[in-house]
Amino acid sequence: MTSSLTIIIIAVAVLLFLLAFILIRTMLYTSRAASAIGIELPAPEVPEFELDVMEAARHLSEAVQVQTISHEDPADDNKEYFELLQKEFEIMYPLVHQTMHKEIVGGSSLIYTWAGSNPDLDPVLFTSHQDVVPADPDTLDQWTYPPFSGEIADGFIWGRGTLDIKSQVLAVFEAAEKLIGNGYQPGRTVILAFGHDEEVVGEGAKMIAGTLQERGIHLEALIDEGGSIYDGTIPGVSGLAATIGVGEKGFLSLKFKVESEGGHSSTPAHETAIGILSRAITRLEANPLPANLSSARPMFQGLAPASSVWMQVAFANLWLFRPFMVKRLSANTETDAAIRTTTAPTIIHSGVKDNILPAKAEATVNFRILTGSTIAETCEHVRKVIHDDRVHFEAIQRSAKEPSPVSPSNSLTYHHLSAAITDLFPGTLVAPYICLGGTDARNYYPICDQVYRFTPIITLPEDLTRVHGVNERISIDALHTMIHFFYQLIARWSQP
Ligand SMILES: [Zn+2]
Repeated sequence: MTSSLTIIIIAVAVLLFLLAFILIRTMLYTSRAASAIGIELPAPEVPEFELDVMEAARHLSEAVQVQTISHEDPADDNKEYFELLQKEFEIMYPLVHQTMHKEIVGGSSLIYTWAGSNPDLDPVLFTSHQDVVPADPDTLDQWTYPPFSGEIADGFIWGRGTLDIKSQVLAVFEAAEKLIGNGYQPGRTVILAFGHDEEVVGEGAKMIAGTLQERGIHLEALIDEGGSIYDGTIPGVSGLAATIGVGEKGFLSLKFKVESEGGHSSTPAHETAIGILSRAITRLEANPLPANLSSARPMFQGLAPASSVWMQVAFANLWLFRPFMVKRLSANTETDAAIRTTTAPTIIHSGVKDNILPAKAEATVNFRILTGSTIAETCEHVRKVIHDDRVHFEAIQRSAKEPSPVSPSNSLTYHHLSAAITDLFPGTLVAPYICLGGTDARNYYPICDQVYRFTPIITLPEDLTRVHGVNERISIDALHTMIHFFYQLIARWSQP
């Protein structure tokens, strides 16, 4: 009797100790998160921001009307449209064109240099892209206003590029024009750089970065499109949550090929080319690359104050709750993509006639590689999982890209960016994250260690389908805030 009582007492004590341990870890975790976002930096010393927002809206409307669509084959690009857009910039932003040195590289990409008063300081760079994706002809009747109308109606500017991402190009220009007009003189040199083929993973940004590198320029920091402010879009997080892209996943497409005898379908072999290839793909889908929570952890830590208690406890105690967290995050395709290298079969080809056994079956599988992993590691996983010498595969080299390095989220530059966000979006939590898609920003790593991706706009769940989809639009208010944000950030990052 006494011995079983002792066991119960010990069990209860262990349980209490465990609970206390979990609780203390959670408190430490959330207080670290709070102190990380609590750094206050004074606003920059610049004249009060005032803007004729309707004029800015008209500028964006005009830019949207120029159909700067980029194509896989650059020969298909309409160069005159890019020239027309750039002519518009000259008319809309006279002070920028008087003050900054303009260059065109790689065909239609732009570099503007605004010399700082202290040439010893590394420049800061503001980038995004001039090109847009086309509008799917099958969806034209679903648009409230035609995709290249640039209609200003119902409090919005409508059309391609309003969200991705002529708005950011224009907002940077508008902010710079205002700063110059207000007599602002940067301490650091400010560079504006706008590629012309981001949507087709082209060469523009590479040419810009290469040009700067040739000149021996090292950048203090840069900001490109990428993260955003989400309202109810991140699972388990409520309220406004801003995510700054501090890295991006890698990209790898593998082409698989199986060759077999072929022949007449009346006497098939036990295994056919199609069967062997199908099994390989099924195995890949059934055995995804392992989950790794380390790259998603800083985001959930930063957003801890807005997360459910359960999320906070779990992330603070991954030693205990890792399997549950992996299960929870894997259930949603967005969060699953944030914790592992994803596997996506995208193309399959085989066969020409119903009574002929094909001699060849081919497929393409696309992988987005998690930061910290590599192309080689992904290929090794694929080889092991398929475990079949008859299935040959190789990388489509043109598109293969290793994941990017991860930029610091504890630097002064990062904190200024974070402060610019909370200044204009009060009550917003800010956290670093890894972009699931690719951006032009990846091209700048050879000359920059602080590469950030952020677009100062509140993105609602329904807005996600407008990007590259139907009824892309930005509210006039959002455009106003976007310009104000860059007015602040250019000053914060370039002040002497
Ligand atoms: Zn874009």
